[in-house]
Parts: sequence; C-alpha cells; structure tokens
Amino acid sequence: MGFGALLEPVKHNSDFHCPPLRSEGPALSSLPQLPSERSRASKDPLQQELHDKRFSSPPVPALPFSRTDYSPFSSCERTRSALPCRGPARQHYARSQSVSRTSPNLAFVPACLPPDPVEVEELQHFVSNSKRLFVMTGAGISTESGIPDYRSEGVGLYARTDRRPIQHAEFIRSASARQRYWARNFVGWPQFSSHQPNTAHLVLRDWEKLGKLHWLVTQNVDALHTKAGSQRMTELHGCTHRVFCLACGDQILRSELQEHFEALNPTWKAEAFGVAPDGDVFLTDEQVCNFQVPACSKCGGILKPDVTFFGDTVSREKVSFVHERLAESDSMLVAGSSMQVYSGYRFALAAREKQLPIAILNIGPTRLDHFASLKLNSRCGELLPLIVVDDTTS
Ligand SMILES: [Zn+2]
Repeated sequence: MGFGALLEPVKHNSDFHCPPLRSEGPALSSLPQLPSERSRASKDPLQQELHDKRFSSPPVPALPFSRTDYSPFSSCERTRSALPCRGPARQHYARSQSVSRTSPNLAFVPACLPPDPVEVEELQHFVSNSKRLFVMTGAGISTESGIPDYRSEGVGLYARTDRRPIQHAEFIRSASARQRYWARNFVGWPQFSSHQPNTAHLVLRDWEKLGKLHWLVTQNVDALHTKAGSQRMTELHGCTHRVFCLACGDQILRSELQEHFEALNPTWKAEAFGVAPDGDVFLTDEQVCNFQVPACSKCGGILKPDVTFFGDTVSREKVSFVHERLAESDSMLVAGSSMQVYSGYRFALAAREKQLPIAILNIGPTRLDHFASLKLNSRCGELLPLIVVDDTTS
C-alpha cells in the first residue's frame, strides 16, 4: 500500500498555496523509523502501563456506553472489588502533605484568596455527609498542572488570545482543516502529553480508594485523572491520548500517531507558541500546508482524536451511563468548572431534579451558582487536600 492510501487527500484551499502531497511511498508499517509497538511503550511508566493494558490484559467486557470510551485509558467498567485497598483506616490530608505532593504551576490559575476556614468547614461538612459522592471536574482542575483553560478571566485562552477550538463539522468536512489541526497538534503533543496530575487529581483518586467518591466525570481531555490513577471515571468528552478511525473504528494511542507523523515529516520544523487545552498550538498557513497527515493504516480512513469537539454531541449511551451513576449518588461536587457547556451542565440539572445537595469549587461564577448548596472560590489543589475523608472500605 502506498502513501496514496495512507495519507489524507487534501483539497487545497485558495487562501494559501501548498505543494501537492506525495502520492507514492512505502506503507507506514514498513517505515524503518517506527520501532515495534512493544519496544515503543517501554520508555515512560505511564506509556508502559497503558501499553500493558492494551496488549497484555485479558479482553475487557463490553461497556454499557460508547465504543469510543473503550480504550486502554478508560476503566469505567472496573468494580470496586478490584480496587487496591488503603492501609490505614483513616486518612488525613494535611496542608503540609498536599504542598509536598506537587508544586502547582499557577500561571494559568485565576487569582483568588486562600481558602476561608469557615468555607473549608462547610465543605468538610458537605463531604462528610456524603456517602456516595458524584464529582464532576473541568478545566479548572488542570490549570494547576500548567494547562490553560478557555474561559477564566484574564488567564484563560479566550481572554488572552483569539484562539477558538476546532468545530466538529469543520474537522469532518475539511481536509485542510484537519491538516491544520494535526500539524498544530503534532507540535503541541510533546508538551501537552507531558503534563502531570496535581494535588487535586491525587486527592480525588484517594477519595475513590477510600470509598467516598462514587463516580468521577471529567470534561477534560488531558488524561490527568487517568495518570493520577482514578478508575471509577467517565471521560465525558473523550481523551486526546486516543485516536480512532472514522471509517473502521480502529483505535490507536496518540503517542503511536506521533511516531507516524515524525516518520512522514522528517524535515518539517515548527515551534509551538502556547499550547491550548486540546493540545493545539499556533502555526502559519505556510507551515501547515507542508505537513503530511497519515490516514488509518487499516483502511485509509480519516483519523480523529477520541475527543468530542465543539459542535459535536456526547453519545446517548455515555450520557445515560453517567445518569445511572448519578442516580446511585447522594450528592454532587463540581470542581474546576463553570459548567457553561451543556453536555456537563445537564447532570447538574439532573442532580437538582433529584434534590441532591450540590457543592461547587470553582474560581469565578458558574452556571449553577443559584441552585448550589455551597459555592467556594478557591483553588482545587489548595482546598481539596484540607478535607478529611474516612476510609469506608474496611
Ligand atoms: Zn480505518
């Protein structure tokens, strides 16, 4: 198979001039630059773990929601009995412990006051009274890991730049839009994929282990909850670390695709100028138009990140799966989200409908401030570690 079948055909727009794409060449699978999948996954502990899940684990049972959530990163199907248990019966998160866990990167965190002791007490009371906590997170929880959000006043991408995320229809319709998307994504990937979970991610992971957190739903696509070790989790909008074929559904790791990009674009150089929440960066049209985009190695179809772009909808199966988890919960905590996007907001509406108490931890106003039981304007990584959670699993 030649590049003609493996590269995306690009219809060149008249707004910029591109040289024609190569039409002949070796198949991706025969390119010498690509090491074997097994040796590739051994460099990084996370990649190794993901690789092991993908290639070494027994088949995962069918999921009660969309195919796109079936991946080495997603573990929603796991049961509590499979979780490792904590040693001590009671766990505390003191302020000193949290500080030593990770050093927050505050460049993209909106300014806010330190947690008010009275508010900390209120959140403590809220969490203590919850037996099955449903947690929803958004970009605000990842800003302390150095990933900018879109909407925060002053520091969000909307405030600092004219950047807007790609629209789903544009990605599907336009080969040159996909070329631009992937060229930018290729440049941004090394930095974007290197971000690490912060204290807030780690605390939520521990709440899960302690039996406090019933289910976690994240609107983020950065894999930081997965990197932290959360398992009872749904990635509502997918994850940038997975890529799938729109035609045959074949799914690969985003890190594998990076190696395809490198093999196809050995001399292509570009620099990243500010990475967006979706891993995007800024590039000129001249830089973009020389970038070669591989197609699916199985069928030649279009590759797309396993991410719900703006303008697309979350699958019905996934939505009803999350509603079921919410129905099993007795309270809802929103952490780091203004809940402006309906795909997440609908679960807050459902929680209100069920008269569940709702607490919000977010710097700045949210769409549900008027019906929340509690609203705190603090950093997630600063406040969550102050909450004491008992181990209910023993
Ligand atoms: Zn395919």
